[in-house]
Formats: sequence, structure tokens, C-alpha cells
Amino acid sequence: MKSEDIIENRSAREKFLVFGKPELLQEEIDEVIATLESGWIGTGPRVEKFEENFRRYVGAQYAVAVSSCTAAMYLSLLELGIGSGDEVITSPFTFAATANVVIHVGAKPVFVDIDRSTQNIDPALIEKAITPNTRAILPIHYAGRPCDMDSILAIARQHGLFVVEDAAHAIGAEYKGRKVGTLGDITAFSFYATKNVVTGEGGMVTTDKPSYADNIRLKSMHGLSNSAWKRISKTGSPQYEVVLPGFSFNMTDLEAAIGLPQLARLESNLVRREAIWLAYDEAFRDLPVFIPAPIPANIRHARHLYTLLVDTDLVDIKRDEVILALAEENIGTGVNFISLHLQPYYRDAYNFLPDDFPNALFASERTLSLPFSSALSDGDVEDVIAALRRILGRVRLKNRIHTAN
Ligand SMILES: *Cc1c(COP(=O)(O)O)cnc(C)c1O
Repeated sequence: MKSEDIIENRSAREKFLVFGKPELLQEEIDEVIATLESGWIGTGPRVEKFEENFRRYVGAQYAVAVSSCTAAMYLSLLELGIGSGDEVITSPFTFAATANVVIHVGAKPVFVDIDRSTQNIDPALIEKAITPNTRAILPIHYAGRPCDMDSILAIARQHGLFVVEDAAHAIGAEYKGRKVGTLGDITAFSFYATKNVVTGEGGMVTTDKPSYADNIRLKSMHGLSNSAWKRISKTGSPQYEVVLPGFSFNMTDLEAAIGLPQLARLESNLVRREAIWLAYDEAFRDLPVFIPAPIPANIRHARHLYTLLVDTDLVDIKRDEVILALAEENIGTGVNFISLHLQPYYRDAYNFLPDDFPNALFASERTLSLPFSSALSDGDVEDVIAALRRILGRVRLKNRIHTAN
């Protein structure tokens, strides 16, 4: 056996490296146990503290904790009075929830293609999609890179549209010195298990408008005038009034107990994420992939996902083959995302063709998210690098014979 074969046939790792591994430490365990021992596991003092810490971190006037980012976006659209007959402009290159919530309020999602290099919504294409029915723009800060908010906010202002942001990836991101969460009318964050701050399931709404915060809070808790914590605690009153038909979209203290230490470590984790990001960039620069677009000095990237585009025009390998080869090396991956216009429901409901959004199509066919988390050890990072270099190092360039002629 030749030495190259030995290298190629050796699995990089003994144990499978899961994609999007959350970093859970003793602090979270202690806080959850303290919550259980307190006897109060519903929405109460820990949620209140989590909201206050989050509000201060982001620099928004108000923060309302809810059960998910999906609930946060849904309640935001409801609060803005968006419903039947209305249209909401968003990116198709996102998680299903971003467009699903538009449908849930009775409105129509209108997709606008992404910029190929940042994979964020392309503001230059937004105006063409505006109709008399357009009510809002719902940008998603893909992978943690803030969208071109100056352009988006200017278009919204000019056409009298609301801006609701899907910031599921963007906790800690900044745009021209301002944190994501202070830019549009309402911003929605996620604490799902793979996100930069996790609570298992959970979300947050931030806004500067008191009526939005009050009404979203009300709608998140059955439309009751008085929260359970305030009703049952000693100083509270047991009475309540139902002032509107709300939902059970509130966050619990058990979830906030996980979120409190997570939020406190966000900044130091971001430093670790930046270091891994740079190591990946450096290691993959010469491979047949597009590494993430350079990050301009006036934004701060939240470094949620490290995604590559496999250059399938250059080399004879498909993205899905890279995924399989990485799995054989015990490296887990993610695909963020297959554009919604290619997904059966959206494709059929709106008669989309793949080429309707060529950049979203381009990215969908090539995108690959590598393991990326502050919980990765240096050894994990080296394993990912070695595995991907091995896999892409042995693929053939396309058209080799032609160029040799
Ligand atoms: C994770 C995610 C969501 C959904 O967040 P939940 O908290 O699970 O509801 C929405 N949008 C994007 C872009 C996401 O990645």
C-alpha cells in the first residue's frame, strides 16, 4: 500500500463530531438545579432577569422573551397588523420559519434573491418586488452577517414599510456600531439548541416601541392582563382579565436558567468563534471552495455558521458527496439552506421554478456548514481541516483534458 492510500483510508476521528454542538457548562447545570429547587419553573424572575440582561446587551429599549424565534416573528407580524391580502418581502435562502410565519398571519411571502457573495437579501432587487400590498421587509442576517441595513431601512422608509428582522443567527452582530436588535422596527432572536446562545427552545423580541413590547408580551401569555408570577407571588393580585385572545408563547424560568450563563459567556465565546473562523479561512483558501465573503470593518459578524460553497463548476464533486465523505471521516455537517423556493410546499404553492432565484439556487446546490461552535477543541478544528483538505485534495479538476489540449 502506498503512503497516500494509508492517509486517505484513515478515518480522522474516533468519535463523530456533531454539527452545531452547544457549549453547556456547570454554570447552566447549577442554575437549572437552583430553578428546580426554587419551586418556580414557569415564567418568573429568571425570565425577567434574562430579558433585562438581553435588553442591556443589545441596547434596545425593550426585550420580551418568548418560546421561539418563530413565535417572536409571528407575534411581531401580528402586532404590526399584517394579515390577509398583505405581502412581506423576505429572502428564500433561510430556514422555513421565516416564511412560514408570514403564511400563518394570512399574508403572502414574496421572495427576493440573495447576493451571491454574502448570501443576504440583495437590496438592489427589493424595490422591484414592492407592490401596493407590501407591508414589511423581513430580512435574515444569514450566518450572522448583518444585512445591508442602510439600504433596507431607506427602501422601507421611502415606501412606508415595516422592517422585522430574523436575527436567529445574529446575536451580537453589529452594523455600523449598532447591535442587531436596535435597527429595524422589531427584531426576533432564537435560542434553539444549535444557536450561539441556547435555552433548548426559546426566542426574544427586541424593539424600541413600548406598545409593541407590551402587546407582544400580552399576546405571548394568553392575553392576560397579569402574568402568573405577578398573580401568585405574595405582593401580586390573583385577579386577571383576558384583554385579547393570546397564545402560550412565553418562555419559562427553566429555559431562562440556561440562557443566563449562556448570555454572560456570549462575548468570550465570540472570540473563540472568531479564532476558529480564521483558522478555517486560512486552511481552505486554496481549496476549490468559496470561503465566506470578507467582513468589512463597519460590521461585526456574529459568527453563527461557517459555510462554504463547494466550487462544483471547478471540480468534479457534488456538495452531497463532500457531506458523505466528511461523514465517513466522522465529521458532521449542516446544509443552511436549501432555498425555500425549491422546497415542495413553496415550490408548488407559488409555482416557483429553480431559476426564479438564481443566486439562492446557486448557493443551495453548493453550501456546506462545517462544525462550528465554541465547544470545539483545537483537535476538533484540526480534524475538520484535515478531513476537508484530504477530501478536496483528491478530487479532479473538471475539463482537465480540454485545458491540456
Ligand atoms: C433557527 C432559525 C429560526 C427558528 O428559530 P426557532 O427559535 O427554532 O423558532 C428562524 N430563522 C432562522 C434563520 C433560523 O436559523
